Amino acid sequence: MPTAAVSMAERKDAGVVIVGAGQAGADLTGALRQQGYTGAITLLGDEPHAPYRRPPLSKAFLSGEASVDSLYLKSTEAYARQRIDCRFGIGAESIDRGQRSLRLFDGTTVPYEHLVLATGGRARRLSLPGANHPNVHYVRTIEDIVRLKEQLLPRKRLLIVGGGYIGLEAASIGIKKALEVTIVEAMPRVLARVTAPEMSAFYERAHRAQGVTILTGVGVHALEGDPWVDRVVLSDGTRLPVDLLIVGIGLVPNTELAEAAGLEISNGIVVDASTRTSDPAIYSIGDCSNHENTFLERHVRLESVPNASEQARICAAAICGKPVPAGAVPWFWSDQYELRLQMVGLSEGYDATAIRGDPSKQSFLLFYMRGGTVISADAVNRAQEFMVSKRLVAGRVRATPAQLADESLALKSLLPQ
Ligand SMILES: Cc1cc2nc3c(=O)[nH]c(=O)nc-3n(C[C@H](O)[C@H](O)[C@H](O)COP(=O)(O)OP(=O)(O)OC[C@H]3O[C@@H](n4cnc5c(N)ncnc54)[C@H](O)[C@@H]3O)c2cc1C
Repeated sequence: MPTAAVSMAERKDAGVVIVGAGQAGADLTGALRQQGYTGAITLLGDEPHAPYRRPPLSKAFLSGEASVDSLYLKSTEAYARQRIDCRFGIGAESIDRGQRSLRLFDGTTVPYEHLVLATGGRARRLSLPGANHPNVHYVRTIEDIVRLKEQLLPRKRLLIVGGGYIGLEAASIGIKKALEVTIVEAMPRVLARVTAPEMSAFYERAHRAQGVTILTGVGVHALEGDPWVDRVVLSDGTRLPVDLLIVGIGLVPNTELAEAAGLEISNGIVVDASTRTSDPAIYSIGDCSNHENTFLERHVRLESVPNASEQARICAAAICGKPVPAGAVPWFWSDQYELRLQMVGLSEGYDATAIRGDPSKQSFLLFYMRGGTVISADAVNRAQEFMVSKRLVAGRVRATPAQLADESLALKSLLPQ
């Protein structure tokens, strides 16, 4: 449906409109003000909440150690102080690029001078009959966790589908809450897409030591029971009795709004190094965007808080007409039991690894190299050396596996002097 005509003056006054009130959208509001943007900023989100942090959803909020209030990124007063017009609980339905306006699901029209799509993603669903039963859970929103927590009770049989970060973090909370936990992973090992076999083996050992059953190389074939799933049939024919399931099989980027507006989509909304889409008035940041990363020298779609914040900073600079900062090295973290995993760089295409420290003591680093250059590092309970590793990766430092593994040699000494 065409929207009402928007005048040039209205568009200019409309300033920046951000669709998606998540980490990236919230960080952008702050970054714009920090970089001196004085125009109007509107933050629109379809969830009935102010922007909140998602990492605790599979960690302290799931375990009950963190309250809902502690999840919010900023207070509503802080948005007011920064003159951010916040509208939560309402989604954007369509974009009229010619008019530079958005149509919302309540039928209203919002003009924009700059539009930023920070629409994130949604949990990938299991496409099997029974996948919508009330004991099949996903881990993406506050509501998902509130519902899940009611069923996360001692001695219940919890089946986790997917041995990625979310599945493993949920498993550690399941154990903490005295559930019987089984992980089913279709790949031959957990964390297969993001780490080397050594790291997968370390995490499989750590979880098994806590009592988790890990089944790899098998998928979920069918869910039995109605109206609750009470049995899961695996691809090898095994039938497992269950009380509840958590599905952690990845994210689907929310690109529909951009796609319907004719923007380029390829594994996310395609943007350049300044976060601009193929329409110069429209930007995209965070989990939904496939951005040109100047450090990696290619397009990449990343799902992490540091990436959302970094892209917000870049987008703010571009909107303010300032030089766009260079793309940062990706990094990420995950907490399971007493293990803090921090990762920097992307390890794909590595041709050598080196372990520094002793995995059996639960404190070590795994370095990934390509052609003699350090391209990535995973650190378990090694926060200080992780900071140095970030600089090794960012500086594309050359080192041998023997140097990296040698704990008598300070990692710092490998940095260019
Ligand atoms: C359980 C969990 C654990 C995580 N743990 C970590 C971790 O340990 N470390 C780490 O770095 N990262 C972690 N992440 C990833 C991190 O939280 C995300 O990368 C980050 O939240 C991305 O922010 P975003 O703003 O791009 O997207 P989101 O946070 O998904 O926000 C996008 C928002 O846009 C809204 N929206 C979508 N379409 C519309 C529309 N048409 N109109 C209005 N609103 C719309 C969505 O509902 C959502 O509220 C975790 C994520 C999850 C789910």
